[in-house]
Amino acid sequence: MSGQALEVRTPVGEFTNEPLTDFSVPTNRQRMQEGLKKVASELGREYDIRIGTERIRTEEKIRSTNPSHPDQAVGIFNAGTKELTARAVEEAHGAFQSWKEVPFEQRADYLFRAGELMRRRKLELAAWMVYEVGKIWPEADADIAEAIDFCEFYGREMLRLGPPQPLTPVKGEKNHLQYIPLGVGAVIPPWNFPGAIMVGMTTAAIVTGNTVVLKPSSDSPTMAAKFAEVMEEVGLPPGVLNFLPGRGSQVGDPLVMHPLTRFVAFTGSKEVGLRISELASQPQPGLRWIRRAVLEMGGKDAIIVDNEADLDAAVEGVTVSAFGYQGQKCSACSRAIVVRDIYPEFLKRLEARVRKIFVGPAEDPNNYMGPVINQSAMKSIQEYIEIGKKEGQLITGGGRAGGDGYFLEPTVIADVSPKARIAQEEIFGPVLAVIPAQNYDHALEIANGTEFGLTGGVYSRNPEKLRKAAESFHVGNLYFNRKCTGALVGAHPFGGFNMSGTDSKTGGKDYLLLFLQAKTIAEKITS
Ligand code: NAP
Repeated sequence: MSGQALEVRTPVGEFTNEPLTDFSVPTNRQRMQEGLKKVASELGREYDIRIGTERIRTEEKIRSTNPSHPDQAVGIFNAGTKELTARAVEEAHGAFQSWKEVPFEQRADYLFRAGELMRRRKLELAAWMVYEVGKIWPEADADIAEAIDFCEFYGREMLRLGPPQPLTPVKGEKNHLQYIPLGVGAVIPPWNFPGAIMVGMTTAAIVTGNTVVLKPSSDSPTMAAKFAEVMEEVGLPPGVLNFLPGRGSQVGDPLVMHPLTRFVAFTGSKEVGLRISELASQPQPGLRWIRRAVLEMGGKDAIIVDNEADLDAAVEGVTVSAFGYQGQKCSACSRAIVVRDIYPEFLKRLEARVRKIFVGPAEDPNNYMGPVINQSAMKSIQEYIEIGKKEGQLITGGGRAGGDGYFLEPTVIADVSPKARIAQEEIFGPVLAVIPAQNYDHALEIANGTEFGLTGGVYSRNPEKLRKAAESFHVGNLYFNRKCTGALVGAHPFGGFNMSGTDSKTGGKDYLLLFLQAKTIAEKITS
């Protein structure tokens, strides 16, 4: 296979999470300012489609803009077409024939090198994210740290899964089990973790010996382009990672439905995920396999605040879970379910805390909340706020915050019924519904009363109540006496139940198996 020959550097040490940058340290603040300045001078560049060694421009452009300052272009992208989609899948299929033969230690090494390169450029990459998706500094830094974690974690996982696996011995036989790759994968990430999720899905697919067509979100293609550049720099052979920006509505179906597409790794909304699930499973001429679909989708996550909770801790946990990154996390708390006895006091303290949140441009470190991603998201969130005003009592927020970006106030709506639309539908913005519960059991029943099952939280000092939640709160990621966002690679494998997805558990020890198939060989020993 062409590409730079790698000297394999394994063995590697034990996995540990990438430390977060402490922006209270003046030198770190200065480094971030320098990163922002450097990136500002590079905004508005045009990026090519990358298929194998080809660099392609098309007529239709996708303009990625800064949601804090919508007039500012972050990058200009060439929109993929149906024909280019087919070409990208065919190129990836060609590259698969040799990439699958590359020793697993060497494939892992590409990830370690990419992680190292991203670590060196951490604050510069974080700066791109501040501009492209409106993340404040610590959120952008954490996103890049998680992307580095995925490289380090999945690289190590491949070292574990690469050799022949242990089997039960049978007398008179020599038995062997080896994990082998699947083929060409369509990787389709969302914009809200444009570093971590995009890097995580792509590296998992590549390190396991598959080749990829990466279709980035049209709201965050620059982050994916930067990653494609990193992979090129570490010498990944051409065709292993093909970069194909394009509107989901135009290139999505041809990418998923191409007969050479063997699997799809998708993270995004329930609606798109379900469509991919349906299309991927359709039989068609020339299709020789059942396409695998790894689908991580939305949430309507709840934190229960019990009458035996530390109220101040609960107020803090609910606030950061609901309004961190403007509520645009699949794990965000969008329902606070509060037991009646403490409901008035909780609400009073919550209102006081939320009123302290500053909203404004993401590059300004004084702001805790930046903009929402784009105009149509802002409109949809505003519509939900209007619905919410009728379904409950507006406590704080409810409108736009000042500035020319897509800024919305952190909004709390109380006295919401568990079946109200704002208590059932994913809003994906800074809107929190507060729902009163008669008692703890009722709170658990409300928490489980949506079609989703991604994250959840409980604040209580009573171990028996926590035990009960561990048993019956039906979510993929449950948190006690802490926020319900911020899953760490290796420590909190992440993925949800029910309409939240296929529970793939990213950052966990089962994840790479979704990109592999096992081949068993049994040989009779003849004397
Ligand atoms: P989205 O609208 O579903 O888009 C996700 C990706 O799918 C984008 O790359 C998009 O491309 C593409 N796409 C759109 N239509 C498509 C089609 N017909 N076929 C194939 N691909 C298509 O979601 P989003 O707004 O980017 O992300 C927010 C959602 O992601 C929320 O629901 C959130 O809860 C969920 N999420 C879930 C997790 C999790 O781990 N469970 C993590 C993060 C986010 P375009 O941008 O070009 O349309």
